Amino acid sequence: MKILFKNARILTLKNEKIINGDLLVENNKIARIGSKINVKADKTIDCEGNLLMPGFKNAHSHSAMTFLRSATDDLPLDDWLNKTVFPREAKLRKGDVYALSKIAFLEYLTSGITSCFDMYYFPEEFKKASEEIGMRNVILYLLNEGEDSEKNAIKFYKDCNKKDSLVTTLLGFHAEYTSSLSKLKFISYLVNKYKLPIYTHANETLKEIKDCMKRYEYNPIEKMDKLGIFNYGGGIYHGVHLCEAEMNILKNKNVGVVTCPASNLKLASGIASIKDLVNKGIKVSIGTDGPASNNGLDMFREMYLVSTLSKYKENDCASIKAIDVIKMATKNGADLMRLKNSDTLEVGKYADIIMIDLAKPDMQPINNIINNIVYAGNKLDIKMTMINGKILYFNNKFYLKEDVKNIYKNAYKVISHLR
Ligand SMILES: [Zn+2]
Repeated sequence: MKILFKNARILTLKNEKIINGDLLVENNKIARIGSKINVKADKTIDCEGNLLMPGFKNAHSHSAMTFLRSATDDLPLDDWLNKTVFPREAKLRKGDVYALSKIAFLEYLTSGITSCFDMYYFPEEFKKASEEIGMRNVILYLLNEGEDSEKNAIKFYKDCNKKDSLVTTLLGFHAEYTSSLSKLKFISYLVNKYKLPIYTHANETLKEIKDCMKRYEYNPIEKMDKLGIFNYGGGIYHGVHLCEAEMNILKNKNVGVVTCPASNLKLASGIASIKDLVNKGIKVSIGTDGPASNNGLDMFREMYLVSTLSKYKENDCASIKAIDVIKMATKNGADLMRLKNSDTLEVGKYADIIMIDLAKPDMQPINNIINNIVYAGNKLDIKMTMINGKILYFNNKFYLKEDVKNIYKNAYKVISHLR
């Protein structure tokens, strides 16, 4: 199957230039990029000067938490978590995550997100749902203590990460504050035995850090590093409050930070020090976090917040550039999620491509496309989302194997029993 995009502006992100030209997709990969490509294709799309760029990578989410979206907002954090989120999550049954994740996937497609890095229960169901929709998602497999858990995790890891798998997996755990010391030690044993990167929530709130200091007399990153958890790199989600020593550890151990600004604002957790992280040489990527704490799964809103919050925090409107935020939302996310073949638009890489509608009023005039996307854009500017060479969303319509009405119907059945 050959799909030829003609008359496009193309931001490959191999560099920061936007070129005018054509792009040919053959099966699931980018076959050619050039000023004029004349081949007989199965489908030719006139881009009319619209922008093709790599799809956004949502580097942290809990997709299936769609059932909690806007159900229990505006409460103190402890009440929200302990009285509304945890009791409802306890009712999750087999099949629920499969149905609920699909609502999030539809939203990702409309937001130009081609991959998300998901942490939640029932990873097999998330995998099945991702494959059915056609999303290149990454599962964070949550580790537990014990020999059986080790066997299951490694089996899942190997089964998932075959050559050309659409859905892959990495290993992690929820957080230091929800793990016993013996569990943390077990995780360190697995990381060092299998030489694998590790991912976890960390340093999201000040309370979490204070509690960790009380427990261990160390900050969370220092404690986990002392246990050897970061010996093979990985990533932390949030990283709102990090001291200099912790940032040095993250840099030296090649641990990235996934910033989730909308969630951090809504839960009043704080504002991450993006400039300090970047200056240290720590790779920053962007996540929406789950729909219970955000509540939208919209990379445009996150990019705007990463940029403007950083400028505000530094009291310096030159502290971060729009292009750097776009890289965080694409390439850096791909790097953290180990998606090296879908980070840029280059020949031989997977065709995970989005088209941005530059004819929309918020994209006009075209003084600077990159600045327009970060400062003026929104997800309604997404004209097309292609993943693995398949157009899944185009001109406000989904092109999926399953009827969207059916996805909502199945999710609603689940939501009513979780209320
Ligand atoms: Zn989270």
